[in-house]
Amino acid sequence: MIRKKLKRVLRPQKLGHRLALYFISISLVFTFVVSSVIIQFERQKHLNLANDESRETIAAVQDQLVRSLWNVDRESTKLLLEGIQRTPSIQGLLLEDENASNLEFGAYNDPADFTVPLLNDDQELGYLLVKINDTFADDLFMEQIKLVGISAGLFIGLFGWFLQIIVRKLVTQHLSHISKATFEPSRINSRSYKPIRLDRKPVRDELADLVDALNDAQKQSLEFTQARESYENQLEYQANNDALTRLPNRRHIEKHLNKEMQRTHHLQNEKLAIFFIDLDGFKEVNDSLGHSVGDRVLKDSAKRIKDIISHYTNGYVARFGGDEFIACCTCQTKAQAEEISEQLISSFRENFNHREAQLQLGCSLGIVMFPEDGSNTEELIRKADTAMYQAKNAGRNTYAFFEVAMMQDVMLKNTIKNKLQDALQNEELKIHYQPLIDLRDMSIIGFEALLRWEDKDLGQVRPDLFIPVAEQTGLIFAIDQWVLETGAKQVREWREKFNIPFKLSINFSPTNFHHRQLHSWIENVLKHQDRLDWIELEVTERLVLDYDQTVLAGIDELLKLGISFSIDDFGTGYSSLGYIKKFSHILSKIKIDRLFVKEIINSSSDRALVKSIVTLADSLDIEVLAEGVESRRQEEVLVSLGCDFAQGYLYEKPIRKEDVPSFIQTWLKTPRIVRSK
Ligand code: C2E
Ligand code: MG
Ligand code: MG
Repeated sequence: MIRKKLKRVLRPQKLGHRLALYFISISLVFTFVVSSVIIQFERQKHLNLANDESRETIAAVQDQLVRSLWNVDRESTKLLLEGIQRTPSIQGLLLEDENASNLEFGAYNDPADFTVPLLNDDQELGYLLVKINDTFADDLFMEQIKLVGISAGLFIGLFGWFLQIIVRKLVTQHLSHISKATFEPSRINSRSYKPIRLDRKPVRDELADLVDALNDAQKQSLEFTQARESYENQLEYQANNDALTRLPNRRHIEKHLNKEMQRTHHLQNEKLAIFFIDLDGFKEVNDSLGHSVGDRVLKDSAKRIKDIISHYTNGYVARFGGDEFIACCTCQTKAQAEEISEQLISSFRENFNHREAQLQLGCSLGIVMFPEDGSNTEELIRKADTAMYQAKNAGRNTYAFFEVAMMQDVMLKNTIKNKLQDALQNEELKIHYQPLIDLRDMSIIGFEALLRWEDKDLGQVRPDLFIPVAEQTGLIFAIDQWVLETGAKQVREWREKFNIPFKLSINFSPTNFHHRQLHSWIENVLKHQDRLDWIELEVTERLVLDYDQTVLAGIDELLKLGISFSIDDFGTGYSSLGYIKKFSHILSKIKIDRLFVKEIINSSSDRALVKSIVTLADSLDIEVLAEGVESRRQEEVLVSLGCDFAQGYLYEKPIRKEDVPSFIQTWLKTPRIVRSK
C-alpha cells in the first residue's frame, strides 16, 4: 500500500508533474553536492588556519618549553603546556619526553595532526604531539547553511511548480487536446473530416509539426476508409446485381423473397405472386445474331418486365440467369396475377429493333402463389419453373399456374431422361412403320418411321412424351440418326424385295440442325450411302422459329444428297401460308395435321383451310398429305379438295417391321378404285 503510494509519488502520470519532480530531484542533488563542497572547502580553510596558528603558538614558547624540560621543571612545563593548549586552534596535546613520562592536555587522541620535536643542542628531550581543533562550523555557519538550504529548497520547489505550469501551458495541455481530438467522433466520420487545431497563436514548432503529421495521417486514413467502403459497396452491388441488366441477381432473389414471405405471412388477405419468366426464341437470336444482340434483347426485355411490374405493390424483378427472369409482387387474387401475366406477354408482342431487322420474341411464364404453393424460396422457384415449362409446352407465349400434377409430370420426365440414354444404347427402342398412301392410285408410296419404346418399369412410353425430353437433353440427335440409319436399311430391303420405290419418312427434330456433329455425320455416314432421294425428313413448323444460317447450311447439305423435306403437323404451329412460300425451294411436301382432318366432314372452315393449302401447294409444286385419316368419308372429302396423299388408321396403324411385308402383300392383292386427278 505504502509502496504503491510511494511509487505514485515518485512516478507521476502527468508529464508536467514528472518534469517538476525530475527538476526538483536534480536541483536538490545539485544543492547538496554544492553545499558539501563549500562545507569541505570551509573546513579545509579552517584546518589550515588552525595548523598555522598552533604552530606559531608552539614556536613562540618552544624555547621556554625546552628549557623547562632540560631543567626538569615539571611545574613550568605543565604551565607552558596548559598555556599552549588554551589556544583555540588546539584541541589537545601529548608530551612524550625521553623518560616516557607523558603529559596530556585537552582532548588529545591519536593520530596527531603534527609533531614538534623538542631539541636542546641536538639532544632530543621529547616530542610534542598536537591534535588540531577541527570543529570549525560554529553556530553562525550552521545557521547560514540552514538558511541557504531552506531558501534553496523553497526556490527549487517554487521553480518546479512554475516549471510544471509552463510545461502544461506550452506542451501538455495541447498534447491532451490532440489526444482527445484524435478520437473525437464529431470531428471525423466516414464522410467528412475536420483537422485538429491547437488553441494558441500560430507557432511553427514541434507541436505544430505533430498536429500536421496527425492531420495528414488521419486524412489519409479517412481517404483509405472511404476508398475501402466504396470498394466494399461496389463488391456488395456486384454480388447482388446483374452487370448486364442492372437488375438484382439470383443471389438477391432469395433474400428478397424471404423478406417478402415473412412480411406477407402475417397479413391475412395479401398474397405473393411469383412469376418465372423465360424468353421464347432467345437462344435463336443469340446463336444467329451474336451475343451483343442477345445482350441488347436481354436489357430491353428486363426493361419491359420492370416497366410493368413496378406499377404493382412491392413489384420486384430480378434476372435469374440466361434468359430467365423472376418477378414478384403483392397480389390479392389469382385473377390479378393472371392480368399481370397477360400484360407481360403482350409487352413482348412489340418487336425488338435490331438495326433494320425486327426481332420477334415472346415469353413463357410460370406462376406460383405464396403461401399456397410452397413455404420456401427454393420450392417456390422450382415450382414456378415447372409451371413455366408447362407454359412452353403448351405452345410458348403463354402462362401457367403451378399445379401438383405438373410435379408428377416433371418426375416422370426425369425418369425418362435417366432411362432414355440406356434405352438407346441397349436397343430397347423400336421403329414402327406407317404406310403413306397415294390417293390417286391407292398405292403405297412409302412409310413413316415412328419410334416405340417399351420400358420394363414404365411400360409403353409415348413418343410425344419422350421426344420432347430427348430434345431437351440433346439426345434427340443420336436418336434421329439411329432411326434414319436403321429405317433406311430396313426400307432398302423392302424396296429390293417388292421392287417398289418405297419412300421413307423420318421425323427430324429442328434442334438437330444446331447439333455440332450434324456436319460430320453427313460427311462420314450419309455421303457414303447411295443416293438418298427416297428419304424425306419431316420437320415441324418450329423450324421456322429456329431458322438461321446454321439451319440453312445443314438443309443445303442434306438437299445435295437428294434428301427431301416435308413440313409435319402443318397448321398447329406458328407458320402461316406465307412461310410456305418462303420455304418452297426446300419443301417437297406439306403434311396437314390430323386436327384439321378430324373435323373435315363437318367443319367448313377446316375444309377451306385444307383447300387453300392445296391450292397454294399446287402453285408451288409441293405435294400435300393429310395425316390421321380414319374414315372413308374423310378420305373422300380430302380427295375432293385435291389432296394427293394420306396416312392414317384407315389404311394401317404404325406396325412392327415384321408385319410390314405381309401388309404390303395384302395391300397389293386387294383391288382398289383408282382415281384420276
Ligand atoms: P407425327 O410425326 O405427326 O406422327 C404421326 C402420329 O400420328 C403418330 O403418333 C401416329 O401414330 C399418329 N397417327 C397416325 N395415323 C393416325 C390416325 O389415323 N389417328 C390418330 N389418332 N393418330 C394417328 P406417334 O407415333 O405417337 O408419334 C407422335 C409424334 O412423335 C410424331 O408425330 C413425331 O412428331 C414424334 N416422333 C415419333 N417418332 C419420332 C422420331 O423418330 N424422331 C422424332 N424426332 N420424332 C418422332
Ligand atoms: Mg411425322
Ligand atoms: Mg404429323
